[in-house]
Amino acid sequence: MNTWVEGAAGSLFDIDNLPYGVFSRPGEEPRVGVRIGDQVLDLAPVAAAEMLDVHHVFEEPTLNPLMAEGPQVAASIRRWITGLLTDETERGLVEPHLLPLAEVELLLPVEVADYVDFYCSLEHATNVGRIFRPDAEALLPNWRHLPVGYHGRAGTVVASGTEVVRPSGQRKPPEADAPTYGPSARLDIEAELGFVVGTPSALGHRVGVDDVAGHVFGLVGLNDWSARDIQAWEYVPLGPFLGKSFATSISHWVTPLAALDAAWVDLPGQDPAPLPYLQGSAARGLDIDIEVELNGEVVSRPPYASMYWSPAQMLAHMTVNGASLRTGDLFASGTVSGAEREQRGSFLELSWGGKEPFAGGHTFLEDGDEVVLRYTAPGTGGGRIALGEVAGTVVPAR
Ligand code: CA
Repeated sequence: MNTWVEGAAGSLFDIDNLPYGVFSRPGEEPRVGVRIGDQVLDLAPVAAAEMLDVHHVFEEPTLNPLMAEGPQVAASIRRWITGLLTDETERGLVEPHLLPLAEVELLLPVEVADYVDFYCSLEHATNVGRIFRPDAEALLPNWRHLPVGYHGRAGTVVASGTEVVRPSGQRKPPEADAPTYGPSARLDIEAELGFVVGTPSALGHRVGVDDVAGHVFGLVGLNDWSARDIQAWEYVPLGPFLGKSFATSISHWVTPLAALDAAWVDLPGQDPAPLPYLQGSAARGLDIDIEVELNGEVVSRPPYASMYWSPAQMLAHMTVNGASLRTGDLFASGTVSGAEREQRGSFLELSWGGKEPFAGGHTFLEDGDEVVLRYTAPGTGGGRIALGEVAGTVVPAR
């Protein structure tokens, strides 16, 4: 299927991609758009002109009302948009509502409900265990039995491009007698994928592995900024707290699950077999390639296909106790790190705890550093698609 939109065919944002975002223009209300090539289709006026039942969901400042419509409506909207952009007879109606990306401001696409961050990479968990606890077993006893996670801070999830203020807090190096307060000296990134929930679930009800497509609307790129010195001092015994909660950046674009139909792959292998509630045919991985760019130079290429736990298993685990889902819930994979050094998804690992500088002498983030995470996957049209990129620049502590 070919689109009539100039420049889109064969690009990373061809007709088989169609991610959603929220945009605004000067003096206009924020509303929902879909990306094709380097343009945004302003969906609200087109849906109103065609008297679509759900046209109101495009007039909102977040994707939440659209996502809450559920997977069947999402599929029919995707078919409608595909028709608009491939059928030459629609061109006269649609073309005036295609806006160049350069002329719109892209906003945080989702009103984030709850935010959960997992820890699903075997290589990352092993590396962090070795760096943080050199004298102990790298993997804790629970790691191969459940996707380890924690509840993060939804209110500090920010859109790509938002400046990241260097956080301050308590730090205590192992050799020091007492903690001190001040700006983090070990500010880091975590290259991750985020999954956004559309369809809620009832309190007391658990969502099974094979129900993932009934609840997850789509994917975002995600950078879980982390202050390693604050984290190392505070995280025992209750887990990450202020070392993570100052900012989590997500992409402007939410890639619908349907755009990734060609990207599902088998997991690398789970040993021992997980408990029955974590098993199912949807317990699969995703063949998504990530690039970590520091100040314009690619410093790492983490492969999402190497992740030990699948998105469906994360969802099943986070609801197995009956905890309910809300529209806008965001759950993230944890840092994606492959087996090779140049596949590590954090500076903590790339510099091995700050001991092995990389990329021309870097260890942790300096003020002024810009990090961009980029993501591509096989598309259903035979080429590749891009997920939304995540950018952020570090600014000095305040
Ligand atoms: Ca993380």
